[in-house]
Amino acid sequence: NTIKDSDVGQPTLKVPGSPSEIHELGNAFNDLLKTQNKRLQRERDFVSNASHELKTPIAAIRGNINLINRHADKHPEIVPESLGYIDEESLRMQNLITNLLSLSRADRAKLILEPLDLSKLTTSIGQQYQKAIAHTLKISVEPDLKISDNEDTLKQIIVALLDNADKYSPDNKPFTLRLKANDQNVQLEVADQGIGIPDDQKPLVFQRFYRVDTSHSTEIKGSGLGLSIVSQLVKLNNGQITVFDNQPQGSIFRVTFEKS
Ligand code: ADP
Repeated sequence: NTIKDSDVGQPTLKVPGSPSEIHELGNAFNDLLKTQNKRLQRERDFVSNASHELKTPIAAIRGNINLINRHADKHPEIVPESLGYIDEESLRMQNLITNLLSLSRADRAKLILEPLDLSKLTTSIGQQYQKAIAHTLKISVEPDLKISDNEDTLKQIIVALLDNADKYSPDNKPFTLRLKANDQNVQLEVADQGIGIPDDQKPLVFQRFYRVDTSHSTEIKGSGLGLSIVSQLVKLNNGQITVFDNQPQGSIFRVTFEKS
């Protein structure tokens, strides 16, 4: 195939219906189908995971009600313990439903982004948070870092990352809330010295319902929804989130936003 001068710059239009075009159309159609099938599969997985997660606490609640009904008159001592389980499991269900609603809202939402002082916001969230936990929280914030984002969802992001550091760290290990910047970006970090996340599972922790399967982490209660909500909210705020190892142990979750 030689190129003639007259060909240069000419768009190459294939004759409609020619075999190569039909082939291309076929491929495009198959790709589309594959994407749609994957989405459908993801939605099915989501519904079946959610139903399973809701069924477990309901079964525990019903089991304990049954126990009280049948045995409370002869063994009244079982009542406080059973009520304790019912309380715990109904709280778990409530949190799960709150998280599911949060996810479905984050799926549809388009946020109003406004200029704000992330340094002030981060410091105030950190100070409030410290009052509510037993761990020591170190706060290290560069002043006057401004971004254009949505304040409510930023709070949600920061608190969710702090909640995880609190949950997955032994009691004697402090963790850090850090805010720093380079020329283009502002970086918000929560760095803990907790149980850490194996390399092969780092990308997976942002998926819905994913929980790291180690003896350490499965002892700690959770639904596997927190980080998927965080990652949706980060996206809506035009940010990016990554996780890497802290030294000598633990994890660092870093959210990067463009400076304004
Ligand atoms: P949950 O904590 O409710 O299980 P998340 O979506 O917040 O759900 O986190 C997903 C999984 O990632 C957790 O189950 C845990 O295995 C792991 N993980 C999250 N944060 C940390 C952390 N700071 N240190 C160690 N593991 C973590």
